[in-house]
Amino acid sequence: MPASDRRLVAIYPGSFDPLTNGHLDLISRGARLFDNLIVAILSNSQKHAALFDIAERTQMIRDATSAFPNVEVDSFQGLLVDYAAHRNANAILRGIRAISDYETELQMALINRRMRPETETIFLMAGEEYSFISSRLIKEIVTLGGDVSTFVPNAVADRLRAKFSR
Ligand code: ADP
Repeated sequence: MPASDRRLVAIYPGSFDPLTNGHLDLISRGARLFDNLIVAILSNSQKHAALFDIAERTQMIRDATSAFPNVEVDSFQGLLVDYAAHRNANAILRGIRAISDYETELQMALINRRMRPETETIFLMAGEEYSFISSRLIKEIVTLGGDVSTFVPNAVADRLRAKFSR
């Protein structure tokens, strides 16, 4: 197949609970690199108690990424490599904020490559103005009554306001 006929499809997996400006920065940069970028919400993560359910997260990400025609939002259960095979993806996009991300990201990238060598994990360094932002901190601040509107897209800030003004 000529190189020009090969479409680069990447999956950007995560919990996105909620989507932050850091995630959005990665999505906008990924949308420039890949022909198609699938933002895929992992729905079997039991890491933390969820703030938003999958349907709410999907809607917020769709609202925040509506300007990018090659970005799709989906959710998946099970192994990321199985989902990548199902979506014919050649790449997994992940972000690195600090050394603390590096260790777990390296481990995941290596094990995913062992399970499915056809899919390469591509890392983008976090934008310096976003590297301190995490969904975990956003959750902590909002539950303590703080304002996070400068850290998250408007679609997310509106939903947070609605949830916490009740
Ligand atoms: P997970 O629960 O898989 O860590 P997240 O939604 O927290 O999911 O993050 C998804 C991906 O986005 C991870 O690769 C993470 O390192 C990256 N990421 C998270 N926050 C930022 C940020 N502020 N800037 C750049 N990348 C980020």
